[in-house]
Amino acid sequence: MTPAPFTRAGAQASWKEFLPRVKEYAVRRNWVESGHGNVSRLSPALRHRLLTEDEVIRDTLAHHSFPAAEKWLQEVCWRRYWKGWLERRPQVWTGWRQRVRELRGNLPAEVLEKAEAVAAGESGVACMDLIARELITTGYLHNHARMWWASFWIHAEGLPWELGADFFFRHLLDADPASNTLSWRWVAGLQTPGKTYLVRLSNLEKYAHAGLLSDRGGSHRIADGAVTPRLPHDYADLSRCPLPDFPTSLPARAGRTGLWLHADDLAPEVGPLAAFAPDAVAAFTSGRSYRERYHLSENRIQALHTVLADGIARAGAHFGCAAVLTDADDTAAAIGAWARSHQLTEVVAFAPAVGPVLDGVPRLSSQLAEGGIRLTFIQRASDAHAFAFAGAGFFPFWEKMSRHLRSSDSAAL
Ligand SMILES: Cc1cc2nc3c(=O)[nH]c(=O)nc-3n(C[C@H](O)[C@H](O)[C@H](O)COP(=O)(O)OP(=O)(O)OC[C@H]3O[C@@H](n4cnc5c(N)ncnc54)[C@H](O)[C@@H]3O)c2cc1C
Repeated sequence: MTPAPFTRAGAQASWKEFLPRVKEYAVRRNWVESGHGNVSRLSPALRHRLLTEDEVIRDTLAHHSFPAAEKWLQEVCWRRYWKGWLERRPQVWTGWRQRVRELRGNLPAEVLEKAEAVAAGESGVACMDLIARELITTGYLHNHARMWWASFWIHAEGLPWELGADFFFRHLLDADPASNTLSWRWVAGLQTPGKTYLVRLSNLEKYAHAGLLSDRGGSHRIADGAVTPRLPHDYADLSRCPLPDFPTSLPARAGRTGLWLHADDLAPEVGPLAAFAPDAVAAFTSGRSYRERYHLSENRIQALHTVLADGIARAGAHFGCAAVLTDADDTAAAIGAWARSHQLTEVVAFAPAVGPVLDGVPRLSSQLAEGGIRLTFIQRASDAHAFAFAGAGFFPFWEKMSRHLRSSDSAAL
C-alpha cells in the first residue's frame, strides 16, 4: 500500500494523480481493495488541511462536470457536515471523552479484557481480526472496513461504542473528532435514531478483497441475520448552541502579531491568512499529553509531528519570519511564553474545530490575557457557509451545499 501523504507537497501530488479517477469513484469506492487504490487516501491531508476541501472542490469542478463528480463531492463534504453538526453540539465530544474515562475506570475487568483482546485482533473472527491489525499497523482503514468493524464491536461483541471509537481515535492517522465520534454514533444507532448499521457476511463477500476472507474462522458469528441491533443508552446531551461567529477575514492589525498554527488547519498560505504579515509563527506538539491523556499510538504521534513540521516549514517560507515547532507538556503555557518572548500584542489562529485543540483554548485565553495579549480566531468563509447548512441531517445539508457549490464561482472557493 502506498503510504498516505503527510506533507502538502505529497498531498498535492497524490491529489493530482487521483483527480482524473474521480469519474470512476462513484462505482468503485465501496470495494475494499488490497492496497486501497480505488479511494484517494487523502483523509489525513484533508483532516489536517495540508490540502483544503476548497482546493479539492475547485479542482474537481474545473476538471469534471458536477453530475459526474457528485458522489465524490458529497464524500468530501461529509467531513464538513460532521464538523458543522458537532460545532453546534460540542458537548457530544466532551461527553464522549468523559464516558471513555468513566468506562475505563468502572467497567468490570473481564469486559475491559475482552475489549482489549478484540482491539488487538484476537476476537476469533478472522476477517475482523485482520481489520483490527491493519488499523494498528497502518493507521488506515477503508470506510467500509470501518463500518464492518465498528458494527462488529458494538452489535456482535456487545462492547461500548465509546471504547471502540477511542480505539479508532488512538490509531487512525486521519483521526477526526467529528467524523470519528459521529460515525460511531451512527453505527450504534444513536445518530439517526433507530437506524443501526449491521455487519453481514454477504456484504463482505461482495465488497472485500479475497485476502480478507481467506480464513473463514469464526465467520458464522457475522453470518447474515446473526448480528442483531444492541441499542446502547444515549448519554449525550443533544441540545444545540449557536454557531460561533468568527471573522472570515483578518481585521486591521496594530502592534506585533504572531500566528499560532495548529493541527486543525495547516494551510495558512491559502485563504484568509495568506496576506497576513506575522512577526513570528509557532506550532506546538505535546508528546506527553498525546500519550498520557489521549493514549495515542506512536504512529499517530509521529504523523502529528510530521504534519505540524511541514506546516511550520511552509509558513516560515511563506511569511518570511521565524517559525518554530516546539514540544511542550503544557501547550497553553508554551504559547504564552512564545508570545511574550516576541513581545506580541496579538496571537492569530484559524478557529479550531471542536476537539483537542479547542479544549485547550480556555486556558490559553487566560494565559494570554494575563500578559495583555489578544487571541483572534479567523474562520474560512467556506467553513462558515457549510456549518450554517449542517443543522440537521446530511441530505438537507447536501441539498443546500450542492446548490451553493453549483452557484458559486468555483475559482472563488
Ligand atoms: C466508524 C467510522 C469512523 C470514522 N472515523 C474517521 C476519522 O476519524 N477520520 C476521518 O477522516 N474519517 C473517518 N471516517 C470516515 C471515512 O471512513 C474516511 O474519511 C475515509 O475512509 C478516508 O479514506 P479516503 O481518504 O481514502 O476516502 P475517500 O473515499 O477517498 O474520500 C475522500 C475524502 O472524503 C471524506 N470522506 C469520505 N467518506 C467520508 C465519511 N464517511 N465521513 C467523513 N468524511 C468522509 C474524507 O475527507 C476523505 O479523505 C470514519 C468512518 C466510520 C464508518
